Amino acid sequence: MMSLIQEWVDLSSLNTFHLPVKARYFLEINHPEDFWPVKSTDKYLILGGGSNILLTRDFPGTVLKVNSRGIDICEETENTVTLAIAAGENWHEVVKFCIDHNFGGIENLSLIPGTIGAAPLQNIGAYGVEFEQVFKQLMAINLYTGEKVYFSKQDCQFSYRHSIFKQPEYKHFLISKIWITLTKHSHTFNIEYGAIRSQLQKMKIKDLSLRAISDAVIQIRQEKLPDPAQLGNAGSFFKNPIITRNHYQSLLHQYPQLPHYPVADHTQVKIPAAWLIEQNGLKGWREGNCGIHKEHALVLVNYGGANGQEIWNLAQMVIASIKKQFQVELTPEVNVY
Ligand code: FAD
Ligand code: NAP
Repeated sequence: MMSLIQEWVDLSSLNTFHLPVKARYFLEINHPEDFWPVKSTDKYLILGGGSNILLTRDFPGTVLKVNSRGIDICEETENTVTLAIAAGENWHEVVKFCIDHNFGGIENLSLIPGTIGAAPLQNIGAYGVEFEQVFKQLMAINLYTGEKVYFSKQDCQFSYRHSIFKQPEYKHFLISKIWITLTKHSHTFNIEYGAIRSQLQKMKIKDLSLRAISDAVIQIRQEKLPDPAQLGNAGSFFKNPIITRNHYQSLLHQYPQLPHYPVADHTQVKIPAAWLIEQNGLKGWREGNCGIHKEHALVLVNYGGANGQEIWNLAQMVIASIKKQFQVELTPEVNVY
């Protein structure tokens, strides 16, 4: 087994910022359940598709690349189906599998890069749908003991772009299998968010279907977002801040156009970080080899040759600048190492 560990592995093709950092040790994991425990003093990093990480330096410990595969239909009722999916499966391939089988629930989450194993981490979301809506349970391996642990939806403590697995004391759980429950008939189509409805009209689609919604989302995303294969990025770098209603009211005096969206707790509102960055004049800002995308203010990009520390310095400059102008604290959505 030890011979499978590689040394000084270049990670530039394994992170979507294309940062040329190295892993001191590197191990591909095809069967997480067979993984032997590590010491709590060991440094390790669990890696999926590398589309939500910023690597600021060579990683001094072991990178565990999750490569397990398999999608099984494990339970069916008259109206629902439950799939058990190995953590290393590509998220968009899972979406395509569901659409091919007419299983509804994740079509709005089309074309999100990365693996299904990482989906619970930040409760991935897009176009009005969040991963937790289809989530049933997951199995994780406690890397310190080798023990298999099951987490229910309640255990995961999902919230906006967050779950328990983002907390430092849960970082030693390698998510190895995920169960999701989808509809087989009577799908609920969610087309009110953003540009989906107008995109469907543009595509002259009259009969709604899971595939039509997925195609519309794919089209919008391809037009709007930089493709990491062409331009290094990790999607939205910052979360949309959630602020108190009082804070929002005071900002509204100065910025009457400030958009906002209600959150479940009516004492708070969500405001788009991209709007704040654009108002601040930073959209399209470039510093050396990295910058803020000119079409999408939430996306930090590597124009080629940037290192992770430069991107992190840029992110901190954005955070400080937004704090100064709006007294709003932006927090990174991307996981920084
Ligand atoms: P990685 O980047 O490999 O890892 C992310 C974090 O999860 C790391 O901390 C890692 O240690 C941990 N991790 C990974 N796998 C496991 C595992 N099996 N067990 C335990 N921990 C693990 N996100 C959205 O929510 N919505 C979007 O619409 C969206 N659009 C994007 C568009 C673009 C162009 C890009 C580049 C990114 C986008 N993202 C979006 C962010 C990203 O794709 C998701 O967060 C995705 O789930 C990350 O998956 P990954 O496998 O690449 O994770
Ligand atoms: P958009 O549609 O231009 O909207 C801008 C922001 O306003 C979004 O961040 C979104 O918040 C919020 N918003 C818009 N309509 C809303 C509504 N009806 N209710 C609540 N919030 C609303 O956003 P975009 O940048 O093109 O992205 C479209 C979708 O894809 C969004 O859901 C976004 O989160 C997702 N996306 C995520 C990433 C990532 O890396 N995380 C990258 C690209 C796109 P939310 O972000 O909370 O939805």
